[in-house]
Amino acid sequence: MTEDCIFCKIVAGTIPATTIYEDNDVIVFNDINPMAKVHFLIVPKQHIESLNSCEEADQALLGKMLLLAPKLATEQGLKGFKTLINTGRDGGQEVFHIHVHVFGGGEPNT
Ligand code: AMP
Ligand code: ZN
Repeated sequence: MTEDCIFCKIVAGTIPATTIYEDNDVIVFNDINPMAKVHFLIVPKQHIESLNSCEEADQALLGKMLLLAPKLATEQGLKGFKTLINTGRDGGQEVFHIHVHVFGGGEPNT
């Protein structure tokens, strides 16, 4: 756990999230500020800052995260979806613990 990382705190259970999937390697929870009716984040339990800091050793974990996207999107009722990985401040990243956004289903309910 990295201090002051909001996603590490969610992994540790010290701040709440709406978790839709969890295993030894990853946790998946709904985005607090959804861009679509369905919008969840696939997050490794290990603190990795961004795609910029990934190494060859992370290949299996990255593949696992991507393969979870269609499985969980289908479970959430989506027939198609968008994926997004913001990388670095210049790439729009705000939380520096790598995550894959998965979203779809039209405008969020207001
Ligand atoms: P990014 O720009 O890719 O770093 O996006 C970070 C995402 O994390 C944003 O879509 C936020 O709405 C979302 N987020 C931030 N804090 C939380 C939280 N406590 N629970 C769920 N999602 C969060
Ligand atoms: Zn973290």
